[in-house]
This record gives sequence, C-alpha cells and structure tokens, in this order.
Amino acid sequence: MARTDRPERVAVLSLHTSPVAQPGTGDAGGMNVYILQTARQMASRGVEVEIFTRATSSKDAAAFEAAPGVLIRNIAAGPFEGLDKHDLPTQLCAFAAGVLREEARHEPGYYDVIHSHYWLSGQVGWLARDRWRVPLVHTAHTLAAVKNASLAVGDKPESASREIGEKQVVEEADRLTANTIDEAKSLIEVYGADPDKIDVVAPGADLSVFKPGDRARARAALGVDAGEIVVTFVGRIQPLKAPDVLISAAAELHRREPALPLRILIVGGPSGTGLERPDSLIRLAASLGISSLVTFLPPQPPERLAEVYRASDLVAVPSYSESFGLVAIEAQACGTPVVAADVGGLGVAVRGGETGVLVPSHDPLEWATAIGSLLTNDRLRARMATNAPKHAQNFSWEHTADALLDTYQRAAQHFGGVIAQAVDGERPSGEFSPRRPRGVWR
Ligand code: UDP
Repeated sequence: MARTDRPERVAVLSLHTSPVAQPGTGDAGGMNVYILQTARQMASRGVEVEIFTRATSSKDAAAFEAAPGVLIRNIAAGPFEGLDKHDLPTQLCAFAAGVLREEARHEPGYYDVIHSHYWLSGQVGWLARDRWRVPLVHTAHTLAAVKNASLAVGDKPESASREIGEKQVVEEADRLTANTIDEAKSLIEVYGADPDKIDVVAPGADLSVFKPGDRARARAALGVDAGEIVVTFVGRIQPLKAPDVLISAAAELHRREPALPLRILIVGGPSGTGLERPDSLIRLAASLGISSLVTFLPPQPPERLAEVYRASDLVAVPSYSESFGLVAIEAQACGTPVVAADVGGLGVAVRGGETGVLVPSHDPLEWATAIGSLLTNDRLRARMATNAPKHAQNFSWEHTADALLDTYQRAAQHFGGVIAQAVDGERPSGEFSPRRPRGVWR
C-alpha cells in the first residue's frame, strides 16, 4: 500500500459559517477567509479538500466546487434560516450524522485527516475521528475564556457550556493549531492543553490582491476627496470590534482640531443584531455631531477592499479581543499603517512603532491622541507605510498551508502512535495510507 507524508484528501469542518459567505457581516469573518484560502493553497499542492458546512439556504447545492480541488458540502442540519447562533449546539447531532453519512458513501479511508474549525466543528470532528480512525486537527479561532476576559461594556459573556465544549475538543484533538504564541499559552494555561501537541501557525493574507497600489486612483474609485484624511475601520460591526471607539475618538479629534479634513470610513455589516445597517453606529455619529464626517460602506469583496486600504491614511483596529486580526495584515500589505488595540494577535500582526501603533486601552481620548499624533507626523507615517508591506510579507496563505500540512503529518504521527498501541504494526506513524481497509481499526 502506497504511503505518503501528505494527505490525499482532507475533511474540513466549518459547521457554523460557510467559507463562501461574504466576510465582514453576520457570522462571517476571518475564519471563513482562513478556511477557503488554506483550502485553495492545499488544492494547489495536490491535496484535495472537502469542506463541510451547515446549509443555510434551500437554494444551496448539496455539493459544489468552490475552487479547483475544493469541494463545499452543504449539510442539512436544522432550519435553513432563523436559527440563532446560540442554538447551533442543538444541531450538532444532525450535522454529525450528515458528515458521517457522506463519508459512508465512499470507499473506506476516503479522508486522511479531519481539520475542524471553531469548537462546534471540533465536537463533530472528535466523533468523526473515532469513527474513521484518522487524526483530528483542531483550530479554535476564538476561545470563550479569552474573549470573556476582555469584553466590551454591555457585551454578553460566552457561555460556560461553550468553555466546557472547547475543553473537551482540546483534550480530544490529536493536534491543535494556535494563531499566536499567546493563544498557545491560553490553550495550555486555561484549557489544560498538552504543550507538545500545539503548533503555532500564523494566518495570512492574499498578497496577490492586498498589495500597494495607486492611492489617487483608489480614492477616485471610492469617491474620496484627494485632500481628505481617511481613517478606516473594516470588519463585522459588533461591540467586540469596537468601531464605536473609533467614532468617539474621531469626534474628540474633530473637537481638538476642527480644521482637520477628517473622513472616517466604516466598512462592514452588522453582526449579531440581524439589522441591515449598523444603526447604533449611525446614531452614535449623529449624537456626537460628526455624521457628515462618517461614511458607511457595506461589506466589500477583496479587490474593492484593497482599494479601501490604499485610499486610507490609517486603518484602525480597536477590538477588545482579537485572536489575530487579518484586517491589520491586509491593510499593511497595501502599504497602510495600522492603529490597533494592544490585544491578542494584534501585537504580532502590527509592529508597534514600525508599521503602526499599538494602543494599550480603549479610551477614545487616548485613541484620539494616538491617531492625531500619526496624522500630524507625515514622515513617521511615510516610514510606517514603507515598512508595513515588508512586514506583511511574513504572512501569506502559502506559509499557512505549508505549516498546516506539517501539522497534519505530526497529527498522523501522534495518531499512528495511539493506533500502534491498539493494533501493533498496522499503521506506521507519520504516514498517510490513503486506502486503508476499513476493518483494520475496528
Ligand atoms: N472582510 C471582507 N469584506 C469586508 C470586511 C471584511 O472581505 O467588507 C474580510 C477581511 O478581508 C478579513 C476578514 O473579513 O479577511 C476579517 O478578518 P479579521 O481577522 O480581521 O476579523 P474576524 O472577522 O475574524 O473577527
């Protein structure tokens, strides 16, 4: 039987959001981008990827190719519409059944490895791993305990049951990936993960799309005046992302320097409110008397988003918690310095003082000072704009996919060891044997 150090086919589980949903609104964000981009990269290396997600529309095909070698499988589990995110755990069994039934239609050993994203998928991955006898790699993306430790005012804490579910997946997975060393520490210290089974795998950006370009053309395309000073927020509009901090800081900046031709761009859609428009932010801008300075844009596709970054003087990422912060990398890749809260992965994504500024609080007055001091220092901003794309080169989906393939191999080693104890000699560790006879492990 041919054995290789690479899987032939990966089953990726993304229960709670489809990787092809428009990121930047609802539940779709960086994780969706991560899953699709790494799948594309793997497929280009000859590794097939099948992504299982929950069907959310009767119009969804049961399966379709999102890119060559990347298949999306829409699994019917619960109503297509109207299921609250918090009720998704009620559909774990239905989703798991759909995934297991799909695999049962194929020859034994159809998938070589399972990669689950977010704890809900991890719960299903754990079951599939036991049934299929292949290794489970899990990426949490966000952790309830970390999120709860730095909530925005009035934001609801994540449930204790989520934390229990996360701990189970951390315990069960053959290998874990963390976006940063800090996240790995949280997995170890808060979730009790075995340090030996964690790989730090940094996410990336599509550097063929997010790259420096003609600023004047980008401004013209967006209808931004050449003389305006543009500070931009990009992402899902929810308390955790703190776009209100930017708007309040802008109001303070405007009070301090009324002549500053400030334009605040807010790009993205509401997340968690079910509203079409970011109403609370629109009201906030009005109550602070700066409605005329703030422009709201709906979620944008990548090419258009690259124009938004290029048209901006600064991109602000004021989040209360951020496991990495793809927006910060994308903006820097386009040559735009970033002002970011010094939380989570943002301290890795942004090089404070070199490619942007890290702000240690969420106080709008402090943010106004940080933004103001950059806007009035053209030389510093120009230096950061030069450094930023160089720093961003360290983060590409090519790197991420290569690192994940290494992780899959390590997972196979661990799994091989576990199986070897049970069935001596049947599965050499660290190798994928694509066509295992099903009966061997049962
Ligand atoms: N995004 C997008 N269009 C938008 C807003 C955001 O495609 O209008 C994408 C953005 O390019 C980034 C992702 O959504 O890749 C957001 O990822 P990030 O890690 O910044 O935040 P998350 O959503 O994971 O919390």
